[in-house]
Amino acid sequence: METVAPFKEVVDEIKDAGGDPFKLCFQCGLCDVVCPWNRVRPFSMRKIIRQAAFGLTEIDGEDIWRCTTCGNCVSQCPRGVDQIQLGVSIRRVATEYEVFPASVRSARSARASIISEGNPLQGERGKRADWAKDLPVKTFAEGMEVLYFVGCYLSYDPRMKKVAVATVDILNRAGVDFGILGASESCCGESIRKTGSEEVFRRLAKDNIKTFIDHGVKKIVVSSPHCYHTFKNEYPEFMVNFEVVHFAQYLYELVQAGRLALTGEYAGRVAYHDPCYLGRHNGVYDEPRAVLQMIPGLELIEMTDARKNSLCCGGGGGRIWMDTPKQERFSDLRLKQAREAGAQVLATCCPYCITNFEESRLNLEYDEVLEVRDITEIVREVI
Ligand code: SF4
Repeated sequence: METVAPFKEVVDEIKDAGGDPFKLCFQCGLCDVVCPWNRVRPFSMRKIIRQAAFGLTEIDGEDIWRCTTCGNCVSQCPRGVDQIQLGVSIRRVATEYEVFPASVRSARSARASIISEGNPLQGERGKRADWAKDLPVKTFAEGMEVLYFVGCYLSYDPRMKKVAVATVDILNRAGVDFGILGASESCCGESIRKTGSEEVFRRLAKDNIKTFIDHGVKKIVVSSPHCYHTFKNEYPEFMVNFEVVHFAQYLYELVQAGRLALTGEYAGRVAYHDPCYLGRHNGVYDEPRAVLQMIPGLELIEMTDARKNSLCCGGGGGRIWMDTPKQERFSDLRLKQAREAGAQVLATCCPYCITNFEESRLNLEYDEVLEVRDITEIVREVI
């Protein structure tokens, strides 16, 4: 049975978030043209806006959970509508009413794990730094050059732990005085906020901010574009401002400062994928490419849909925790684009992208023909 959210609640939520998409939107449909969903199945953001304007939002349907918050529609809408904010507002109402379709249930267990353990992966909070226990990694102390904020996936996910290990190896070899927070680190809260759990986000943000202040943190280096976006653009809502640098930018900084020399050879054609939250949302396109281009022997190539038109991997907006049928995965399309461009390696710098790409690599049986690497892993091999 359809559950229609009370008109006033959806409208108030959306207006509280700022702007009035109902007045702005003239139903041109450009958002649907650029939305990656329409490459795999029909989906209409334009229709969601129309329905919300008339108080007809179906909050128990799949559609309000589809948006990956990739930001392509926001960046191209001729009327300045913030479709992400609108979609998140509707999800907040659905969350308040506790109405969720089956595909979203796994995101509910991620939420429960975030609340109890500070991460979405059912990892024990006390084991957050286990990946580093045999490595030369210190706990952050005031006066250190940078805090390395590891993030949930690099702390717990077996594939992504390799990136955490590569990161600390590079930091040590560059002579960076850094530390981590271990069990005191909590999920940044970016994705849980996008699924409509605003209170959970606010609690996580306050906990992390208190930890940063208590430890005297000034500069934070992160591996996830989602942590980057949240610390840089959303934590300032709490009247704080830390210097935040994504590791791809930090690598560039270290090379430019002469602290890291990329001298080893990396023979191969590498396509770089712009993660939505590093590229489109934050305009970081050049430093990751510059780092790759400085590596001897590496041939950097571009795929269709590069830079501001980058094709979303499908993992943002909490979709990384939801079930997506195999034939509807954007990451499959991205891998095909990489192959069409002649790439031997698909490189990126986001844990969600890598997780989705590795799964697509298996689905498409590309394990023999295409590697998926974080640029950190490539750099580690050539220093
Ligand atoms: Fe409305 Fe903007 Fe979408 Fe056009 S692109 S339908 S104006 S939200």
